[in-house]
Amino acid sequence: MTDRHAILVVDDEEAIRDSCRQVLTKSGYECHTAVDGVEGLHMCHQIEPDVLLLDLMMPGMDGLEVLGQVRKTHPHLVCVVITGYATIESAVDAMKAGAFDFLPKPFTPDELRLIVNRGIEQHELLKETAALREEKERMKQYFITIVAHELRSPLLLVKQYMDLILGKKMGQIDETAEEMLGGAHGTLTGLLDIIADWLKLARTNAGDIAGGLEPTKIMPVLDKVARDLQPFADDKGVTLRIERLNEMCLINGHAESLEVVFKNLVSNAIKYNRPNGSVIVESLCAEGTLKVEVRDTGIGIPKDEMPFIFEDFFRVKSGKTAEIPGTGLGLSIVQKIVDGHHGSVEVESTEGDGTVFTVYLPTVEVREGESRATPEHGETEKEPA
Ligand code: ADP
Repeated sequence: MTDRHAILVVDDEEAIRDSCRQVLTKSGYECHTAVDGVEGLHMCHQIEPDVLLLDLMMPGMDGLEVLGQVRKTHPHLVCVVITGYATIESAVDAMKAGAFDFLPKPFTPDELRLIVNRGIEQHELLKETAALREEKERMKQYFITIVAHELRSPLLLVKQYMDLILGKKMGQIDETAEEMLGGAHGTLTGLLDIIADWLKLARTNAGDIAGGLEPTKIMPVLDKVARDLQPFADDKGVTLRIERLNEMCLINGHAESLEVVFKNLVSNAIKYNRPNGSVIVESLCAEGTLKVEVRDTGIGIPKDEMPFIFEDFFRVKSGKTAEIPGTGLGLSIVQKIVDGHHGSVEVESTEGDGTVFTVYLPTVEVREGESRATPEHGETEKEPA
């Protein structure tokens, strides 16, 4: 591999191409030139330059068009646009379109060298950032594998043995042993919940969700959440009601992830509620946005704790929450998934009175005569968060 940095100069003026080549070659760069946008694009693919010096005003394919195309195919290529004084406005447009800098004509050899050196630095920085990002993703996948296989699987096995013993499948056990094992079983279950939530958080990649979005109806998602959580609500003596509105409202969504969102919000609304309290889920579809409210009559969230509730592992610590199990990861997962849907989530709460979580998601426009069914999604999953 050569250490020399490659520069491509795309300009229809021969004098500019020649002078750039002279200056840059003398400075130790590998300099290539192209006479117009089409040749420039072709050479970009061929030589993969580090920095592109691009004239904006060219006959045929102009600089802005070339810039638009190379930005898609060569994300690490640093582009400097060459402009005449009269075209400073198009230089600003080019910067908005992703150019790194601009070089007004006429320019001196020193000005050219300076801007190319800075472009090379920027290119190196972009490459390093991409490599670090890749490394981070690799490490993340590695930890997911470790946590899933080396930690979760053996713990699940231990829990299964405990289930057998506590279920008296292996014979009677004395009362003290049963109590101690019961405590250990509870701790283990809490630990497995943290691992399950942590894995879910680590695997929830906003980019992946955005890639898997399709027209989805919200009501089937909410119905499934209500079905799954009804026994939990009964157990807590809480009334759970889903208002049946917006049967036709379509959002660009990922049904399984949305189920995770509303399962977390509704299970929180149940577990932080009071006996004989209620949880109402209501949705409204208007002006390109679906709004889903999860309203409860529970303990509420102290005002000074509100800014932190979406942070990883954050839990409100108070006498009222001490006995309520949780991992502090549910709302971080909610936030990440909603972000992946280009939506937002808000919360309003009054201590002692209740809490309302509101999720906003952009809707899909359905043209007349077009009908789309919500994709069925499988029967997933997990106990209340
Ligand atoms: P957890 O597993 O602890 O429920 P979450 O991330 O889902 O974690 O929520 C973070 C914290 O926010 C909870 O520990 C709780 O203190 C508070 N919280 C969330 N939802 C509610 C709610 N509906 N009512 C009262 N407090 C809530």
